Amino acid sequence: MSPPRDQTRFDVVVAGSGAAALTAVLTAATGGLSVLIVEKSDRIGGTSAMSGAGTWIPANHLARAAAVADSAEETMRYFRAASPDGWEADEDALWRAFVANAAPMLEFVEQHSPLRYELIDEPDPQAEQPGGKMFGRMVSPRPLSRRIVGRYARRIRRSTLPHIFSYREAHGLDPYNHPIRAYGGLAPRLIWRWLTDTRGCGNALVTGLLKGCLDAGAKLLLGARVVGLVQRPDGRVAGVEVQHDGARHSFAAARGVVLATGGFEWNAALRETHFAGPLDRLGSPDTNEGDGQLLAERAGARLERMDQANVYPTLPTRYDGRLHGMPATFQSAPHGIVVDRTGRRFVSEYDYNLGEALDRRDASGAPIHLPAWLIGDARCVGRHLAFRWYARKERGWVRHAPDLASLAGAIGVPADALAATVARFNGFCAAGRDADFHRGESAWERYKSANRDGRKRNPTLAPIERAPFVAVPLNRSILGTKGGARTDDRGRVLRADGGVIPGLYCAGNAMANPIGTRALGAGTTIGPCMTWGYICARDMLGNAPP
Ligand SMILES: Cc1cc2nc3c(=O)[nH]c(=O)nc-3n(C[C@H](O)[C@H](O)[C@H](O)COP(=O)(O)OP(=O)(O)OC[C@H]3O[C@@H](n4cnc5c(N)ncnc54)[C@H](O)[C@@H]3O)c2cc1C
Repeated sequence: MSPPRDQTRFDVVVAGSGAAALTAVLTAATGGLSVLIVEKSDRIGGTSAMSGAGTWIPANHLARAAAVADSAEETMRYFRAASPDGWEADEDALWRAFVANAAPMLEFVEQHSPLRYELIDEPDPQAEQPGGKMFGRMVSPRPLSRRIVGRYARRIRRSTLPHIFSYREAHGLDPYNHPIRAYGGLAPRLIWRWLTDTRGCGNALVTGLLKGCLDAGAKLLLGARVVGLVQRPDGRVAGVEVQHDGARHSFAAARGVVLATGGFEWNAALRETHFAGPLDRLGSPDTNEGDGQLLAERAGARLERMDQANVYPTLPTRYDGRLHGMPATFQSAPHGIVVDRTGRRFVSEYDYNLGEALDRRDASGAPIHLPAWLIGDARCVGRHLAFRWYARKERGWVRHAPDLASLAGAIGVPADALAATVARFNGFCAAGRDADFHRGESAWERYKSANRDGRKRNPTLAPIERAPFVAVPLNRSILGTKGGARTDDRGRVLRADGGVIPGLYCAGNAMANPIGTRALGAGTTIGPCMTWGYICARDMLGNAPP
């Protein structure tokens, strides 16, 4: 619902319509506040609508019902053990706030929207660390018909991923590696979904959240960009300036403004400042240009974690008429390895946090491994139907050569080093163990290679020996940056001197994220995004107008 023309005063204005924004709106509107959602794009849901909606919620009620033992204490142990060195000192208070609010948030969302979640059989990527879990923290929404949001159904942002599947089905049946099994096995169900406009993953997430928000009375303005914050002389943020339909409008927000405008990956200047060096592709909507970060900075906020991002391998695809990144772990191929510009391996190719390794920097902030390459033999990606389908979208992306020396020459990697790396890897394959990076040995990597109990011969190790050889560039692709306004544990934006900017909140990828490039779970962007939206709104509900 758009606001009536004369309605310019609200309790809360939320910029953006992704998971962080809509969870804030649902919480605030259900609590009785009048809320306006301002979305820059003409489509609803941002990156969240495109996402798999794999959602990491420790000690959640579904796990409890399934008798999975988990607790806030265990989760905090995991945070401390699995996060990068030095982060605990800065992030402990925010980790605690997330851990305390994540599970209540999920229950709240189920109670006040049509969303229903299911547990996903996926371990923590660092399950061996203290407090890590093999099962119970990953959840995702069950599919929903987009028709429940009426005329907005056609405005829900489409994904590059096949959202005809739920996250659970996509991970159980793996349509990327086994398209015939996945589509064929579920054919009647998928046809029914197509006929009823039912979708899973991020489209289900945004449909369900939006329905809850509209039912609770929230108003929505599409194609409207927040371009300024109304700030009183005492520093309090009391509303927003919005560019809409060629004119500038003011909306007052008595309780506060939430900036949930996503990352800044589409802002070339900001991106080149914080992520200089080779970039493969972006995976989010092009409206994520860092508006929230810049608005907060202008209001006096301290920006932090600007060099953090969701870095993930992508395949080339087309979206909105141009090349775009579709997340896919195509580099996890038995007959392939990833080498850096010196021709050496630097990470296990099956590591969930491969993106963190690709983004490793030197003291000046420059990437130390890039450009990086997936190197394989004829069996690596060449026989793979889905890979070939996407590879055709970017001409010249995959390089072929009859031998490794010519391949090295074609990509500018030292031939001796590449030959030595491949020989060493082939030796590991013969021995059945990767002595350098333990590929296929961690709980996550065993899970992903269908070798859960580790009893099979390591299926991730297969030699690179058959011509033609292939090289595929594998640099950073960014699904969303994770830096922005530093907030306190109530989601309130902080100034450089540590004081609070009254009335200004920030959530999701627009905030300085307490979980950065290193993911702690496969859903540690969506889970925290939603939880921070919930935390901001809960604070506003307890914050009467001055
Ligand atoms: C294909 C894909 C799959 C993914 N799968 C997962 C997954 O399974 N699990 C997971 O945890 N993460 C996943 N991610 C990452 C995750 O989707 C994002 O990190 C997350 O959705 C970010 O949410 P957000 O609410 O912060 O921002 P977004 O969802 O990006 O929403 C931001 C919105 O703000 C709007 N906006 C920007 N500027 C303004 C302005 N000035 N005024 C008004 N509106 C503005 C934008 O148009 C956008 O709609 C995936 C990402 C991609 C691309």
